[in-house]
Amino acid sequence: MECRHKNVSSKKVKKEIFDMTFEAKTSICNKCGAYLRDSEYEKKYMHWLEEIYKERRDKFQAQCHFSKNLIKCAELYLVDYPGILPTVFFRALATIYFNVIDINENKSAQLESLLNPEILDSFTNDKNKKKVTIQFKPKMMIELMAISEFLEMSSSAVVEEVVIKLMTMITSHDQKLKEFWENEIRGYLDMFLKAA
Ligand SMILES: [Zn+2]
Repeated sequence: MECRHKNVSSKKVKKEIFDMTFEAKTSICNKCGAYLRDSEYEKKYMHWLEEIYKERRDKFQAQCHFSKNLIKCAELYLVDYPGILPTVFFRALATIYFNVIDINENKSAQLESLLNPEILDSFTNDKNKKKVTIQFKPKMMIELMAISEFLEMSSSAVVEEVVIKLMTMITSHDQKLKEFWENEIRGYLDMFLKAA
């Protein structure tokens, strides 16, 4: 929340997430009531999440359903990355999408305009689907939940949509899409998969 007032006091605030409650003190503006989450508060929150992550990995997962065809394409692509499972690959694609493409208006507009609707449809509407569980780290999961809330979609649906877009790019023979892939994404993916 945007607030430029000077008169603040420290109060305990609650935050509901994963059917649990996080409580910590933070500064609250006396005039407009804005929560001024300082770095101390954010640090405590991330620490709290990391602790939950240790016990309850399942809270940080997206349960996606992907076309078997799409999974086959991913496996084929991963021949060049021995030891990387499709689920790790999908996590990489989603993470890169939100950290590289989605935050850049030019890039996301460019990608949308280049995507081949036929391939996109074939991946989306294929009845032959398989469940894939994608594990996220706390920070990415929090981002994902914020995006899902904004779009009024489930986290899993958001991840599905993004992975389908990027897999459409990977499998397309269109020259411009290939260039977009090579110039804008390939490097990030290699970095991500090497660290995985
Ligand atoms: Zn204020």
